[in-house]
Amino acid sequence: MPTYEYRCKDCNHKFEIFLTYQEYENAPVSCPVCGGLNPERIIRPVRISRTEQARLDSLTDPRLLDRLDDDPQTLGKMMREMSRELGEDMGSEFDEVVNRLEKGQSPEEIERDLPDLGAGEGIPDPGLND
Ligand SMILES: [Zn+2]
Repeated sequence: MPTYEYRCKDCNHKFEIFLTYQEYENAPVSCPVCGGLNPERIIRPVRISRTEQARLDSLTDPRLLDRLDDDPQTLGKMMREMSRELGEDMGSEFDEVVNRLEKGQSPEEIERDLPDLGAGEGIPDPGLND
């Protein structure tokens, strides 16, 4: 049964209802909060499928990365696809981060759980590993 999503124009309440197409055509939809009879149908944007290349390109857009901070699962998926695309072994730390992202952990949480992350970046300290 299709779900229809509405926003009440009177009280701004958002709600979903299940209707058959026939009911949708014939029954007036009313707001469950205020009983208003002119809720506005919300049409969800259609998800646009993109090619792998476009997805890789989009990683260079910092605004997109900002948004992905709030969406760790998508970020993890993209990082996994990126490493597959590059055909390189990104190392166990990378895998660990991607796994945690895909479980829904935020980058901040991962950083907290894995304080050694990024230790290999920048200028290596030659004295440390001896
Ligand atoms: Zn209402």
